[in-house]
Amino acid sequence: MRNTLLATAAALTISAPAFAGPTFILNDVGGVGVGTQARAGFTAAAALWSSVFSNKVTIDLNVGFQALGKGVLGQTGSTSNDVSYTNVRSALTRDATSVDDRSAVASLAPTLSFMSNTLSGGVTNATTHILENNQANRDTQYLSANTADQKALGLISAQSATVDASITFSSALKWTFDASQGVAKGTYDFVGIAAHEIGHALGFVSGSILPTPTPMPARPASIRPRGAPRSICSATTPRAHATGL
Ligand SMILES: [Zn+2]
Repeated sequence: MRNTLLATAAALTISAPAFAGPTFILNDVGGVGVGTQARAGFTAAAALWSSVFSNKVTIDLNVGFQALGKGVLGQTGSTSNDVSYTNVRSALTRDATSVDDRSAVASLAPTLSFMSNTLSGGVTNATTHILENNQANRDTQYLSANTADQKALGLISAQSATVDASITFSSALKWTFDASQGVAKGTYDFVGIAAHEIGHALGFVSGSILPTPTPMPARPASIRPRGAPRSICSATTPRAHATGL
């Protein structure tokens, strides 16, 4: 997943249209103060996302460095809360502006029903799949939605001061903050990883980062079943960040 997103970020650098959409507020919680290379890196990564979305929302991020688990480059904890499926569906319908949007929302069932492998209490069972219905279980009436997406959909104020995510980089690793001349050996591409992590804050997740085996059902990118894991990015394929990529 990291490879794909980094490639996307590179493509955005070349062809980004000037939407000037979301405004990002960066709250330094350690090592990302004004004038630092890290802050410049986060600002560049945020600009990539602003250039590809038109939503006039303010995204509030806590950003900093601290010791992380072995092999973890960075991690993101997104702020989310439960929103009823009915409200999400209505908001998506109101927000539909294109033929594709309208086609997508037209396919949304009036009520929610899905296969779940998450048992009560958030315990994930990889082998037992339960066909839920929305008559008896709150889990099939509410979705966990990132506040960043709630801002974009008008479910909360677009300018809400809510901190939408906390992004933490490993303080134990070395970083290349300007990869325009390549990524130095033994270091990692800061802007590329920051763009990836901001993507999580905006609600992009992937089953590829879930514990295995986890045959999870297909689901929207950001609005996920309650109790679904949040994202931690590891350095299991460090070659993706070799010099010149
Ligand atoms: Zn990730």
